[in-house]
Amino acid sequence: MRTYEVRTYGCQMNVHDSERLRGLLEDAGYVRAPEGDEADVVVFNTCAVRENADNKLYGNLGHLAPVKARKPGMQIAVGGCLAQKDKASIVRKAPWVDVVFGTHNIGSLPVLLERARIAEESQVEILESLEVFPSTLPTRRESAYSAWVSVSVGCNNTCTFCIVPALRGREKDRRPGDVLAEVETLVAEGVLEVTLLGQNVNSYGVEFGDRYAFSKLLRACGEIDGLERVRFTSPHPRDFTADVIEAMAETPNVMPSLHMPLQSGSDRVLKAMRRSYRQDRYLKIIEDVRAAMPDAAITTDIIVGFPGETEEDFQGTLDVVRQARFAGAFTFQYSKRPGTPAESMEDQVPRDVVQERYERLVALQDDVAWDENKLTVGRSLEVLIAEGEGRKDAATHRLSGRAADNRLVHFAIPEGVEKPRPGDMATVEVTYAAPHHLVADVFGAVRRTRAGDAWERAQDAPSSPSGVMLGMPTLGAKPMEPAVGGCQVG
Ligand code: SF4
Repeated sequence: MRTYEVRTYGCQMNVHDSERLRGLLEDAGYVRAPEGDEADVVVFNTCAVRENADNKLYGNLGHLAPVKARKPGMQIAVGGCLAQKDKASIVRKAPWVDVVFGTHNIGSLPVLLERARIAEESQVEILESLEVFPSTLPTRRESAYSAWVSVSVGCNNTCTFCIVPALRGREKDRRPGDVLAEVETLVAEGVLEVTLLGQNVNSYGVEFGDRYAFSKLLRACGEIDGLERVRFTSPHPRDFTADVIEAMAETPNVMPSLHMPLQSGSDRVLKAMRRSYRQDRYLKIIEDVRAAMPDAAITTDIIVGFPGETEEDFQGTLDVVRQARFAGAFTFQYSKRPGTPAESMEDQVPRDVVQERYERLVALQDDVAWDENKLTVGRSLEVLIAEGEGRKDAATHRLSGRAADNRLVHFAIPEGVEKPRPGDMATVEVTYAAPHHLVADVFGAVRRTRAGDAWERAQDAPSSPSGVMLGMPTLGAKPMEPAVGGCQVG
């Protein structure tokens, strides 16, 4: 039996695509390589958004060349956004790569591996557009209790800092019936939280001519028995309509959290970014969300130092941060991305200026988030217990999980209480707030769930999921990895 390993870089869309790649490989008879073993097939699911993504890929491929030379039959495949961008040049630069496949044909991977093996030569297959919606492919999910469900792929916007439309193509919407059927199947398997995934969920339905399709989808998720938590990412302020806010507020299992990219608080910069909303529109959506859901936690993405950004523009961003009261933000320092319109814009902001603004933004956002988090002290929360997330606090044996509003919560289980499993729910009271997490040391109760049962079953299964909770990562500054991500999905 041949073993495989999938290495994933980039956003949630890639994380989810990797679940499909694992499903495809297991369907074709491969088994997951045990941790630390050299796999027979190594698949790189790449990202073209992160800074130096290509250097990192070729560095990693270089490390594998001697491994492959001494391991007969080993195969290396490269897929994802960088493969879509660089195509055959990958095998020119790294001729020991066996397969290159793009974002539109992940389903071809097993066939391409087989073809490369028989023909004893590299196979490169890149399609220019999507033929089959990838969510019809088998999926090997990483979490037994929380799942991504694609509602669309691609994006019809043309944000000038973003490479996603060039690499993922125009938006393709999945039929609501197919989305709901997948959610129902997941719930039957024990999943209790789903995150609906699309580059721009608010334009969902544009392909089949229903501008209310996304709010209808949220309400339909509300009808699914056993589905306790529904989230979505990413929304786009341009397409955000009142019916979505109403559906969020009126559907009990749609969680009171919203991650809505701001990118800049300056109208002038938003125009240069080709983001067709303005500061007042963004703030109005937040006002409406807060009016409908007073306890909603709102988070965002912000880019600092976009070409031409002046101090006055930057002050506009700080103003929005103060007014919007974000519970968290992914903050990015702008840097050029090959192939994007912004790459050749004049007035690139000097690095030291970007760095200094970035530090001011992070300091302000941390203060705001901390103040917002302090408002939760004394509140009772139900936390979905996660594994592999957040701080491991050996001294207090704290566990971690996510509240309904997606805040990260660390909490202690008193002695004598049976240890809950990932996927179970705990009711706790918040005793302390930090800028990026809460501590809840007053314990209420544990609710054992079907999701916890599913997690336990998965531990015994061969090639079991790692149990890693693939929820939204801890929000906060990312000073070590300057990147321009666009939407969190992109
Ligand atoms: S940033 Fe988001 S909305 Fe803009 S082009 Fe990229 S994926 Fe589309």
